[in-house]
Amino acid sequence: MSWLGLRFVADLPANGELLLHCEHNLALASLAYVVACAASYATLNIAERIGHVEKPVYRRLWCWLGAMCLALGVWAMHFINMLAFRAPIDVHYGLLLTIASLLVVMIAALVAMRALSRPYLSAGQYVLTATLVGLGITVMHYIGVSALRSNATQYYEPRLAALSFAMATATSLAGLLLTTRLRRGSGWLHQSLKVGASLVMGAGIISTHFVGMWSLNLFVPSGSALQLPSTHNNLQLSLNIALIVLLIIGGSISAALADKKLQDKEHDLRRVNALLSQLDQARRSLQQVAHYDALTNMINRRGFNQIFAERLLEKTQSAGMLAVMFLDIDHFKRINDSLGHDAGDELLKVIALRIRSATRAKDVVARFGGDEFCILVTLNNRDEARHMAQRVMLAMKEPAVLAGRAMVMTTSIGISVFPDDGKTCEELLRNADLALYESKGNGRNALHYFNSNLKTKATLELQLEEELRHALREGDGLLLHYQPIVDLKTGHVAKLEALVRWQHPHHGLLLPDRFIGIAEANGLIAELDNWVLKRACKDLSLLRAEGFDPLIITVNYSALNLTREDLVGEIENALTAAGVSPHGLELEVTENALMGNISSAIGLLKQIRQLGVSLSIDDFGTGYSSLAYLRRLPINTVKIDRSFIQDIPQSPQDMEIVQAIIVMAHTLHLSVVTEGVETTQQLAFLSEFGCDFIQGYLFSKPAPLDVLRPLLLEINQRKSTSLWPVAIIPEQSHFEATRTVRAQSGCGDTGGVFHHGT
Ligand code: C2E
Ligand code: MG
Ligand code: MG
Repeated sequence: MSWLGLRFVADLPANGELLLHCEHNLALASLAYVVACAASYATLNIAERIGHVEKPVYRRLWCWLGAMCLALGVWAMHFINMLAFRAPIDVHYGLLLTIASLLVVMIAALVAMRALSRPYLSAGQYVLTATLVGLGITVMHYIGVSALRSNATQYYEPRLAALSFAMATATSLAGLLLTTRLRRGSGWLHQSLKVGASLVMGAGIISTHFVGMWSLNLFVPSGSALQLPSTHNNLQLSLNIALIVLLIIGGSISAALADKKLQDKEHDLRRVNALLSQLDQARRSLQQVAHYDALTNMINRRGFNQIFAERLLEKTQSAGMLAVMFLDIDHFKRINDSLGHDAGDELLKVIALRIRSATRAKDVVARFGGDEFCILVTLNNRDEARHMAQRVMLAMKEPAVLAGRAMVMTTSIGISVFPDDGKTCEELLRNADLALYESKGNGRNALHYFNSNLKTKATLELQLEEELRHALREGDGLLLHYQPIVDLKTGHVAKLEALVRWQHPHHGLLLPDRFIGIAEANGLIAELDNWVLKRACKDLSLLRAEGFDPLIITVNYSALNLTREDLVGEIENALTAAGVSPHGLELEVTENALMGNISSAIGLLKQIRQLGVSLSIDDFGTGYSSLAYLRRLPINTVKIDRSFIQDIPQSPQDMEIVQAIIVMAHTLHLSVVTEGVETTQQLAFLSEFGCDFIQGYLFSKPAPLDVLRPLLLEINQRKSTSLWPVAIIPEQSHFEATRTVRAQSGCGDTGGVFHHGT
């Protein structure tokens, strides 16, 4: 078979021709190997790039560059090896065929790079590509060899030629597999593997060439002059070609490595960017948590303060007006206590919506925590704030259905206005709070503007708190007045209610209304009530010693004390210290105090009852007045609040209520005390409807024990009870009583005024 002048024959010519002994220049062959390895290394790196670039245009560019490196490398390896080929005849190379061989290997390299640009290759694709590339390399080799011009005839051993093709295909397959495996990875080991793979691939390529050359036999006619030609030019040419090709390959490798570095940097940059955006997201979430209230989705105190500061600056510069409104939902605690915190939360959401609906979009509404809300309003005049507050109060009164019950809530509001009531956020908030305090103090469901009196009052309260603390510490200034509670059946004083007073160095005698609230708000109430208890027990012991035997002393206890577990021990100690029987003591607690946490209160009250101390519910009728609760409480007495009696006999409705309470209490086997009895008509009414005990100015105002003693003695000496109601009925004594009361009311209590007919 003959192709391009190449003779592939199994049998060599028998005679007349001389087989030439050929050899290769080892140095040049080594140089060719270096070039092949370099081309392989470039291919590995460029294939890695192809796998990493995203834009198709860049992928194509890398593909072409890779193909060029591979083709130039393989071709240069071949050409340098051809120049290394030494036969004892003159040898030249045809330019066209040499170029053609380069083109062929370029096509084969392109096929290889196209395949390597795919993310995945099937086994069939590997084999097909390897076969095509192997064929390309083989064809290049034989075209290249056919460019050899000399007087020798070339014969090729077909089996060795086939072996060279097989080797080219195997080398291509190995190259493809190694390249696809090494497309991903980084680090020292990966680089070393690539170098190793390049050496293997280079070896494969050069071996293919030598097997191809092994199949070549050159024959010259016998008698031809055999002489080794000079190798100087070949060496020169080889070095030049190697240099140029290595430069191109080196440049490509550098480009690939630089691109990889760039991409790594880009990756790092992207990672940093992703981290930054994650951080930003986290910061935003944190800010959301830090500035928003999760329950109502309104801003919280922190968020409010931030916006408030901005608005205040704005209004300061533009000489505008702002109002800060503090809102507190009246008796919200009762909802939590009675219906549970989940219901309370639901209600807060409804309330938040109501407030929002009553305000304008530009107003800032915040939840400060619990049932406290704050609104920041831009104003044109002070009255606008009032209108807004009224709108909010109205919206709040709409019944809200909660746990199947329709609830009507009210709110107390305090307003401070910029610039009139303060210049800074803190000052305005503080003053709105003071105004709110005033609204709550005045019976709630009200709105109040801040005024300078409130500040004076607050300062005074602060001072009073300090002074009360001092008074409690030193046991100085506090004293007890007692008010008789008369048994309607016997006409005798059955009990004395201990009512605390404070002889203030500057303000004179202070009534409890002035300082109980301060004591409660500042953690002094436990100490104060304990002081009263101990003093009352001592007084009881004195009275007992003086012969006032069946007399009971009643002591008021603040709601806040009913949560203290040491209360029972405290009462026991006070009784023991004074040496009095527990039966001489009665504790008065208000109805609402019990309703706050009914189950724990019941437990505590039971323990107190077990001591032998009696219990009464004070101010009955002003709170829940629930029959169901009343049944469960371990109490002895109900004290009907003064508000139900003060309009009797003018108010038939109040008369009916009082009657109903008496009947109800008696049904539950409780005795009834009516407080605040001031007129004989009230007395007559109560005695007619079976009230058990009477307390009020009609008999006596609260007074020190020493002042009360003669009165008690007088009553206790009385044998007959039938006389006294008749005796006090005359208008004269009633008028006198009232006059005396009025005369004394300006400066608190004075001596006992028992207007008993004699
Ligand atoms: P309270 O327990 O309901 O006491 C009855 C209050 O009504 C007393 O006022 C008494 O002076 C007044 N009062 C009695 N009869 C009449 C009347 O006929 N007409 C009028 N207008 N008022 C009458 P006071 O002493 O100012 O006490 C007020 C409240 O202060 C008491 O109401 C009680 O809740 C509380 N309190 C008094 N002492 C103590 C105490 O030691 N500890 C505690 N925690 N609270 C006390
Ligand atoms: Mg009382
Ligand atoms: Mg009362």
